[in-house]
Amino acid sequence: MTALAEIIRERIAATGSISVAEYMELALAHPEHGYYRKQDPLGARGDFITAPEISQIFGELIGIWCAQVWMQMGGGPFSLVELGPGRGTLMGDALRATKKIPEFHDSMTIHMVETSPTLAHAQYQRLRHEHPRIEWLDHIDELPDSPTILIANEFFDALPIKQFVMTEDGVRERRVAWDEASASFMFVEGPAGLQLAKSGQSIPTGTVMEQCPAARSIMRTLAARMKAYGGAALIIDYGYLGEAHHDTLQALSQHKFHPVLRTPGDADLTAHVDFSTLMSIARDAGLQVGPLLNQGQFLVRMGAEMRAEMLVKHAQGHQRDLIITGLQRLISPQAMGELFKVMACASQADIELPGFAL
Ligand code: SAH
Repeated sequence: MTALAEIIRERIAATGSISVAEYMELALAHPEHGYYRKQDPLGARGDFITAPEISQIFGELIGIWCAQVWMQMGGGPFSLVELGPGRGTLMGDALRATKKIPEFHDSMTIHMVETSPTLAHAQYQRLRHEHPRIEWLDHIDELPDSPTILIANEFFDALPIKQFVMTEDGVRERRVAWDEASASFMFVEGPAGLQLAKSGQSIPTGTVMEQCPAARSIMRTLAARMKAYGGAALIIDYGYLGEAHHDTLQALSQHKFHPVLRTPGDADLTAHVDFSTLMSIARDAGLQVGPLLNQGQFLVRMGAEMRAEMLVKHAQGHQRDLIITGLQRLISPQAMGELFKVMACASQADIELPGFAL
């Protein structure tokens, strides 16, 4: 049993079952044993790989997106914010791709929002020579009151979700308990304290539904800040439009699916992102919100294929193959192209969101 499993087992023994959100929060963010606190999970030797680690084109095009939005905002000092920046690869590629616009670099202060000391250190190592003003923060509440351009890739999927189940007796919350007989964690059902919309009546028994209170609260804060000080955001993640009527909680260990309750703290835990809710929060705050795009669509519209051709021209042998296969992994519907979605919003209606115009 992992050290964290022991801590969770004791907590359950003392106070009863815990919600899926509490389990996820402990597994990912426990100060000592949480998955993101103790290791670098990324890359071939880690548990999963992300788009910026697959191809430099990803971060480059996002850098260009930010610069184009900044120009439309009228330029001027601003904060370039990244939520959950992993190894700093995306930011490094974005900065390199925009070097030819020195006013853009001169106008920005970079804010990296990161809770993991291990990853914050990796980001510092990667970026310390790339820009003179980079600051690290634990939480979005510490961001300065300035115009903001924000990037979040695979950040929202790491936030704790609650799960609910439709039963014969109405909606119940899915919770985590300890099963003595099998000496393992198991799911149980408890009171939900949740009102479903009227359409809830037709949901079949056994259906699992999800909510992410942390994502809602972060999006509300970000949207209010963007409305007050000006700005735009680009959010990329695997997720869905409409309500999720299935269980999207998953664990990954060494690039393979893993039982979610087996080794808390030792496997990555994620849930798909509910983009409809994020988009309606942004809209309700008075922001312009673009249509939800597939990652493939977005990258192609931003010029991914042309960029790959240029890189191929200057590369040799094996390097060429890596550029082509990297691009294919990002845009192909069989790989990340359709599963991953891109949402964009901006404070002003007249900002044309690059890649999002019809
Ligand atoms: N964006 C990176 C990394 C994705 S992994 C990439 O695309 O490669 C998720 C990232 O979010 C990690 O950097 C993790 O440490 C960070 N993270 C997870 N929960 C967080 C939270 N509540 N606040 C800030 N960062 C968080």
